[in-house]
This record gives sequence, C-alpha cells and structure tokens, in this order.
Amino acid sequence: MAEKRDYYEVLGVAKTATADEIKSAYRKLAMKYHPDRNPNNPEAKEKFTEISEAYEVLSNPEKRQRYDQFGHQGVNFGPGGFDFGRDFSHFQDVDLTDILGSVFGGMGGGFSGFGDFFGGGRRSRQVDPNAPQRGNDITFRLDIDFDEAIFGSERTLELALPAQCPDCGGSGSADSRRRTCPTCGGAGVVIGGNGFFQVRQTCQTCGGSGSVIDKPCRKCRGTGHIKTPQHISVKIPAGVDSGSRLRLAGKGGGGVRGGENGDLYVLLDVRESNIFVRDGLDLGVSVPVSPALAALGGTVSVPTPEGEARLKIPAGTPNGKVFRLRGKGVPSLRGGSPGDLDARIVIEVPANLDRKQKAALEEFQKLSTEATFPEAQTFANRVKVFFSHRDKLRK
Ligand SMILES: [Zn+2]
Ligand SMILES: [Zn+2]
Repeated sequence: MAEKRDYYEVLGVAKTATADEIKSAYRKLAMKYHPDRNPNNPEAKEKFTEISEAYEVLSNPEKRQRYDQFGHQGVNFGPGGFDFGRDFSHFQDVDLTDILGSVFGGMGGGFSGFGDFFGGGRRSRQVDPNAPQRGNDITFRLDIDFDEAIFGSERTLELALPAQCPDCGGSGSADSRRRTCPTCGGAGVVIGGNGFFQVRQTCQTCGGSGSVIDKPCRKCRGTGHIKTPQHISVKIPAGVDSGSRLRLAGKGGGGVRGGENGDLYVLLDVRESNIFVRDGLDLGVSVPVSPALAALGGTVSVPTPEGEARLKIPAGTPNGKVFRLRGKGVPSLRGGSPGDLDARIVIEVPANLDRKQKAALEEFQKLSTEATFPEAQTFANRVKVFFSHRDKLRK
C-alpha cells in the first residue's frame, strides 16, 4: 500500500490553517471529487475518501493535536482504517446535502446507499468470487423533534433494505456460482491509455465487482439482493444532538453466501424548538416579563426540561439580564452532569391598554423624576456635552 499522505497536504492548507480555512478547503475538494459527480471513477472515490479522512481529523481539535504530535499513528479509526460510512461525522456542519443530493434523498430520511460507494473495497480485491461477503453498511438519516432529543424516544423505521436473495443465496447466479471476471482477473478495474497516460477504469465486463455470472438468478436479476421492507425499532437515548449517529449492528445490507449483515447507522437531525435554543448540553430561553415585575422584583416561571422552575428576580432587573440555572439543561448522553439553562429576561412593553391602565401609566409618568430613569438621565447629559462641543467647534 502506498504511504499515507500528510493530511494538510491532502487538503492543500497550511499547518497553521484555521478551522474555517480547513472547512472551506474540504468543501471545495468534496464538490469536485464526490462520487455522485464522478460516476464509475474509482480514482475520484479514493480521492474523496482521502480528503474526508483528512477533514475528519483536522476539523477535530483533539484529533488534530494528536496528529500534529504523533502523525498518522496518533489517530485511530476502526478496523480496516478510515471508512467514510462509519467514521465520517460531519454530515451536518459541512452540509454535504447540497452536494450529495440524490444520495441522501433529502430530509425526512431518504434511503442512503453509502455502502454502495464506500464498501471498503472488499469486493474488487476478493480472490475467491464465491467466498462469503459481508453486507454493506447503510446510513439512514432521521429527523427527530427537539423533545425527543432531550427526553429520548423510540422510533420504528420502515426501510426497504437490500436483503440476501433467498433463491440464489446472494450469489446472483441461478446455479449459485460466480466465476472470476476474465477481463480484469478479479481486480474490478482495467488499465487503459495511450502510452503517455495510464488510466484506471472500472471493468466493463463485471461492472467493478470482479466476478461474473453465466446464468443470472431470475428473482434478483443477478444482483444477489432483494429490497425487503423491514420494521426496525430504534431507541434514541436522551441527550442526542444533530449529527449523533446510532449504530445498529447487523441491521444493514444483507450478507451474501453466508457472510454477515452490514450495520445500519442512523444519523440524527434534530428539529429546532420554538422555546429553547440549544448549544451542546446548554439551553437558552427568553422569558417575557412585565416592566412592573422587572422594576419591583418578583418570581418568574421558567420552563426547563424537568418542568417549571421558579426564578426570583431582584428589583431593578434590566432588560436582557441572563440568569443561569445550573444543571437544568440537556441530560448528558455519556452519563456526565447535565448542561445549564440560561434564562434571559425580556421586558415586554405593555400593549392593548384600556383607559384605566393608560391613566395609571400617565399618573406614573407624572410621578417619575430624573432618578427614576438614570440611564435616560446619563444619556441626556452626554447629548448636552456633545452639542456644546459642536457649538464651540463650529464657531
Ligand atoms: Zn437471486
Ligand atoms: Zn471484470
């Protein structure tokens, strides 16, 4: 295997690059090399995987630091090295959706055949065309509500997953045999070109699979798989966030010829709340409060995931003042302490006043002195100074 290239070099950025520079470099390259845009181009796929691996490491401060210190040995991916379907965790923040388009099939959980693109290259390098083969890993994107992310929930997915064809045992062949492709010798690719350039192309005879069938199975038309509707229940633990991935071992694409099933990954996308804003484990909430309450002080009711909290605010609480309620945020997925909740006081100007209310406010206005509104007083003094300077300078 060729030596791994330096991640910075792969993305074409300096070692001192900022997070934004790294992200934008990755986006540009991802647009260029995405397999959707380069069908039947194994080089582009390799390139895409390479840049995604580099981005996965350099976009994570902790991994980046380990990489800077120890090189490639400092970062570990699962068995077989970096696997896009399994290890790439940035579907959200780089928003590949506009690039991927058909792959994700939009929000709401389209079926995503990542396994087809990123099966780890087992297919083409297989020596025995009749050996058992593990099914593809499949990523499914699921939208959940804000409340589900906070409290946890259970969902049943209805998916049509490629299961092993019962008629041919997944071989795709009516007589259950596949033989090594005579054109490419099982490699799945052929080298072409005119002497100056060598071009690796997907083998036309076997379509890159490395093996061929003489008599295709009639039930699955030679694919070895049949899309089978399945009901799969998923437990969503409390504390997940957009970008969280749940792994359902063995629930992915069906294995063939006795091979085990691939895994199903559920990639979560959390809808926004109309009450809270979320930042990791912390929550923020804006609480409307009357001017009288803010001026006199009193108790304000603040919604938290656990229920209503009673917040005492002091007399003279200014607009925009934030009160931190410790431990009232999102529960930690890893069993740590929950986040905090920031309650921001928003003073609401009274509206729809009736006659008595108007009279009361007018009365209050009459009773007000300069000291009642110190900010307005300070402001008025500054304006006075400003104009007196102006008059001097204009003379
Ligand atoms: Zn079949
Ligand atoms: Zn071939």
